[in-house]
Amino acid sequence: MTLTIENAAKTFTDGTLALCSTNLTVGPGEILSLLGPSGCGKTTLLRIIAGLESPDAGSRILFDNTDVTGLAAEHRNVGMVFQSYALFPNMSVRANVGYGLKVRKVPAVERRQRVDEVLRLCRLTDYADRPPHALSGGQRQRVALARAVAPRPSILLLDEPLSALDAALRDKLRDELAAMLRQFRITAVFVTHDQSEAMAIADRIGVMSKGTLLQVGRPEELYHFPDNAFVAQFIGNAMPLTGRMENGVLQLPGGGLPLPAGATGKTAYIRPENIRLDQKGPLSGTVETVTFSGGHYRLAVGGILPHTSVLYLQHPGRTAPEIGSNVRLNIDPSDLIFLEDQTSTYS
Ligand code: ADP
Ligand code: MG
Repeated sequence: MTLTIENAAKTFTDGTLALCSTNLTVGPGEILSLLGPSGCGKTTLLRIIAGLESPDAGSRILFDNTDVTGLAAEHRNVGMVFQSYALFPNMSVRANVGYGLKVRKVPAVERRQRVDEVLRLCRLTDYADRPPHALSGGQRQRVALARAVAPRPSILLLDEPLSALDAALRDKLRDELAAMLRQFRITAVFVTHDQSEAMAIADRIGVMSKGTLLQVGRPEELYHFPDNAFVAQFIGNAMPLTGRMENGVLQLPGGGLPLPAGATGKTAYIRPENIRLDQKGPLSGTVETVTFSGGHYRLAVGGILPHTSVLYLQHPGRTAPEIGSNVRLNIDPSDLIFLEDQTSTYS
């Protein structure tokens, strides 16, 4: 099924503009992630798609070519998975998964077959007779997914389904969830505030900020070609190199960085993984913090950017410079991302 969202907006009765006019298409079987910080309107958009929230006049939601804008949630054939799995505590796993089929009056024999199939795909067969409280967090999450997909919904909507789990389990489950979602081949919209989760699970990501869908693209597109500063910072923590341009050289407190032609009127952004320690580098600063995260060190270097801003860099070596030591840095100009930016442009 193709989901089409046309001019969808939502103003709550108290005047809160939770969602500005939004247009978006999600293709058949595609997994799209809505990614953005808390309060940016992700859940509001998801609830509008589900029919749980009525959008402002002029908004349209289409499932394939059918306009469902005025259709109640229970008639939209939508599957939902929430952060709090909301499993029925007094029902077994099997009864939870079969619930939607029972409501739809699917005959018992067919119901049994479908539930068995979904339990198998979600690796829950061995737990079918247990109540939810006798399951681990990850297993409960799989039951919630199984229950949502068992009635073969036209679209699956997931709202931060991994947020309730602890960090280690979350990392493991997000790859597992990505694989499970793909095997069901259901068009899906997956809401998260976690960049790495969106990148692991989605075919395309829509980045949202303050009720606005800023950019939609494949994870690689958003990372390499962000349209604006918010996307560059939210996906991959790009940092603005705010300084003065003189004869093609960006003058920063820590030194001069030659910039390629065409930088005028824009701000250069750089990511931590694209800054190198280099004794012959053009920038010099002082190490302020060092944190070790297994695969690399993360250094905060002061004195390079104006004011008290620090430049973060990812250092892959086995040892790191000490706090307080002077370091020189280098940046390959081809790693810079140039963006229009009202707050700090090179003139
Ligand atoms: P997200 O899911 O991205 O965290 P939400 O869609 O839940 O964000 O909320 C978007 C904005 O709308 C927030 O400012 C939130 O406070 C507001 N909001 C959500 N629900 C209501 C409501 N029922 N009445 C008024 N404001 C709401
Ligand atoms: Mg939310």
